[in-house]
Order: sequence, then structure tokens, then C-alpha cells
Amino acid sequence: MIKPYELPRTVYGSEEHQMFKKTIEEYFKTYVLPYREKWEEQGYCDREAWLKAGELGLLGITLDPKYGGMGLDFSFSALLIEEQARYGAAAPAISMHSDIVIPYFEKHGSDYLKEKYLPKCASGELIGSLGMTEPSTGSDVQAIQTYAEDRGDHYILNGSKTFITIGYTSDFTIVACKTDKKKGFKGISLLVVDSGTPGFTKGNPFHKLGLKASDTCELFFEDVKVPKENLLGGEGTGFIQMMTELPRERLTIALGAIGAVRGALEHTVEYTQERRAFKQPICGFQNTQFKIAEVATKLEVATAFVDKCSELLALGKLTPELASMAKYHASDMQCAMIDECLQLFGGYGYIWEYPIARYYGDARVQRIYGGTNEIMKVMIARSVLSKYFGELKAQQKARKLEMASRN
Ligand SMILES: Cc1cc2nc3c(=O)[nH]c(=O)nc-3n(C[C@H](O)[C@H](O)[C@H](O)COP(=O)(O)OP(=O)(O)OC[C@H]3O[C@@H](n4cnc5c(N)ncnc54)[C@H](O)[C@@H]3O)c2cc1C
Repeated sequence: MIKPYELPRTVYGSEEHQMFKKTIEEYFKTYVLPYREKWEEQGYCDREAWLKAGELGLLGITLDPKYGGMGLDFSFSALLIEEQARYGAAAPAISMHSDIVIPYFEKHGSDYLKEKYLPKCASGELIGSLGMTEPSTGSDVQAIQTYAEDRGDHYILNGSKTFITIGYTSDFTIVACKTDKKKGFKGISLLVVDSGTPGFTKGNPFHKLGLKASDTCELFFEDVKVPKENLLGGEGTGFIQMMTELPRERLTIALGAIGAVRGALEHTVEYTQERRAFKQPICGFQNTQFKIAEVATKLEVATAFVDKCSELLALGKLTPELASMAKYHASDMQCAMIDECLQLFGGYGYIWEYPIARYYGDARVQRIYGGTNEIMKVMIARSVLSKYFGELKAQQKARKLEMASRN
């Protein structure tokens, strides 16, 4: 039942969405939440959870059924991402696998790659990760140094990646690398590298501030032989592919943000009605009421924008600028509102056994990964101030030509 202060979600309005929501609930309550602490301790999630997700049709929701997917529209994926965040379940990192890695194969993969990887990705037998960030560069993707040297029918890959989500548990990684060092972003390509290939090694999962049940690690490539068939898309098209796929990734982060705030608010509403101070429930204080009103309002306002972006994505019309706005606004809102919720728990808010602490820890990275919120603002500003940036680019080009003619 929709509460009077909640936005009617037309995006999830159908009976199919309600049935799907029940499957999601069963999955998280039965196969994920009971194991969360174990996974947090070991720093990664067990494969059984992935296989169960595959069995229930939760992997590859938008993937073509001919590759074992569900063939549903993006709104079903959106519902899953939101609900997972509402439950405070960092693992398994389904959206990384389903909404980021799988679409790369679907849109840019050869028939060989699609047939080899996609059916097993949908069943959970194969888990994929995406390696863009390197120890020396994150925001500046063009500056990556991992290099694949052309050796005829294969490449020899050298370099390293860091902060790779499910890098430790994945069976393969899409690796962004340079295939031509002289061509700048036009020299970047994407290679599918299978775990276990000689020379491909992995660090242990990092000890993180949040998302503790989901592994994040370093990857190392030392003279790794990668067959040419594992090139995703054409040589030198990697940067364009990444830029094309990033709006979807950024929207998944925004969806996770609104789901997490909804979950945090539910816990806060419950707690503030039970906890007493000065002989009354703490929700009797006007400060508590105002904070809860603020969280509920900001959540619903952000939800309206994110829903619109989901609709646009399903229609293939989500622009990078709108996706950046959704990511930056929703994740900023998430961090600020969960901080307010935590405050209402007093000292208990700081204790890991209380769910609000987990929401707080998990929130912080949302402003960092998928492109930092500062980079989101750079992109938005470039578009809003396009006249200024257009002139600047023209001036820089003219200066370059002048210098070249002098030399
Ligand atoms: C838990 C986690 C999971 C991740 N998962 C993945 C993954 O699966 N795959 C992957 O490839 N990467 C992943 N990342 C990496 C993430 O995308 C990067 O950390 C992020 O893009 C920032 O890069 P950086 O850490 O190198 O920071 P830097 O680029 O060094 O930035 C440092 C600071 O400088 C600011 N800055 C940089 N450039 C500008 C600019 N032009 N204008 C203004 N400010 C600027 C940044 O906003 C930031 O505040 C993950 C990171 C974490 C923490």
C-alpha cells in the first residue's frame, strides 16, 4: 500500500512488477540476509548466492532470452537495484554484473563472445567485473597505462587495475587498456580476460569502510596472453564504449541511493517511535519530526527525477548529463539523509549491529565510484556552458596549429 507521503511509482505500476518484487523479497530474505555477516567477515559473497539469483531470473533481467536472459525492460532491473539497497544488501553485486558487464557484451560483443559468456552470466555460472581504474589514475580514464601489445593472433597484456568490484570473485574481467599508446583516447580498447589465465593475478579483498560483503580488489597482468577474439568491439573503440555505457552505470548508483534512503528511513521511523527519552518516544521531539519530514521529502523529490531517468533509459534517451545529475544529486542526498537518520539513533547508530550503521558505511562510496561527484559536475557544467567550452577548445586548437606551423 502506497502511503500518502509516498510518490505513486508508475514506473513499477504493473502486476508483473509486483510479482517480481515478491521474488526479490524471497531471494534477499532467504538467500542473502542470513549470510550477510559471514560474507562481511570473509570480505566476499559466496557463489551459491549468485547461482540462486540466476535460478530465480535475477541476473540478466534485460538480456535477450536467446542468451538466457529475461528480456524485460530496464524498470525491472531498476526495481531490483532499489530493493537490494533498501535491504542494505551490498552483495552479491548484481547490478555490476547485470547492468554494467552484461550490456557491454550485448551491445559490443561479437557473436563468439556473446555465445561463450552470456548464457553462463545469466545463470550465475560466470561472474564478470569491469577494470578501468588503475593505481595511478581513476577520474582521468584517458591516462590509463595498462598496455596490450599486438602479437598477431593475440595480445600480450601488462599493467594493473585497482578498486575492482567483484574483481576477486569474478571469472573474467573486461579490462580497459591501451592498444596504441600514441593515439590518446582513440588508442583505448577493451579486452575480456579470464581469471586463471597465466600471468593474471589478484590481490586480497580490500578492508573497506562499507560494502563489506562485496569484494573490491587489485588485479595484476604480467605478460598475459589474450586471444584476439577477446577484443570487445573494435580496436581503439574502448573509450567510446565506456562513455556510452556510463549513463546506465550512473543511473544504477542513483537507484541504489534512493533505495538505501528508503530502507534507512523505515528503520529510523521504527526506532524513533520505540526509543524513549525524557519520558516520551524520541519522535515526540519536534527536531526528530522535522528531520524525518526532511528525509521523506528529499527522498520523494529525488525519486521523481530518478524515475524519469529510468524511463528515458528504457527508451534509449538518457543523456550523459541527466545521468550525471541523477548520480550526483541522489548520492549526495543519500549521504546527507542517512547521516541525519543515524543521528537519531544516538550512540546505537555507531554500532555495526544496528542496520543504520551499515547504511551509513555503504553510502559514502556512492559519491566516489562511477565517476566522482566532482567529475559529474564537470560534465554537467561543460554541457550547460557549452558556448564557453566550445570557444576554449577552438582557441586551444588554433594555438596548437600555430605552434606546429612555427616548428
Ligand atoms: C568500493 C569501490 C568500488 C569501485 N569499483 C570499481 C570498478 O568496479 N571498476 C573500476 O574501474 N573502478 C572502480 N572503482 C574506482 C572508482 O571509480 C574511482 O575510485 C573513482 O573514479 C575516482 O578515481 P580515483 O580514486 O583515482 O580518484 P582521483 O581521480 O585521484 O580523484 C581524487 C580527487 O580529485 C578529484 N578530481 C579529479 N579530477 C578532477 C577534476 N577534473 N575536477 C575536479 N576534481 C577532480 C576527485 O573528484 C577526487 O575528489 C571503485 C572504487 C571504490 C572505492
